[in-house]
Amino acid sequence: MDPISPLEQALHAARALVLADLVAGQVAEADVVSLVEESVAQRRWWVEQWPEGAEFVAGLVAQDVQDALLERYGRWPLCPVCGSGDPHALDVEPELGPDPHWVCPEAGVKVAAVGSLGTATGGMPSS
Ligand SMILES: [Zn+2]
Repeated sequence: MDPISPLEQALHAARALVLADLVAGQVAEADVVSLVEESVAQRRWWVEQWPEGAEFVAGLVAQDVQDALLERYGRWPLCPVCGSGDPHALDVEPELGPDPHWVCPEAGVKVAAVGSLGTATGGMPSS
């Protein structure tokens, strides 16, 4: 067996980061987890064609899962920083780049790195 390739490591990390954010948002149901698996499978193909894109995979998987959840469940992740106004989802920035973050498009602020939503929401009042 080969050691784990950087590509597999990137996919594994992406899966773990997005799952961590789903757990933070308490939406890590079995069928939601399968959305992550689907995305990782598709991105595996993608990154095999373009290995330089390995560091972009976490942001892409986050966006795939966000899109899939929007169809089935609604907006995710909801912005934890804006206390008032309509509930709105966070965006991933950069859409295609390394070191993806969740940002609030309304307030224009970085909320947390992808994978760290739990630390951003943990201390917020829940009303
Ligand atoms: Zn916001």
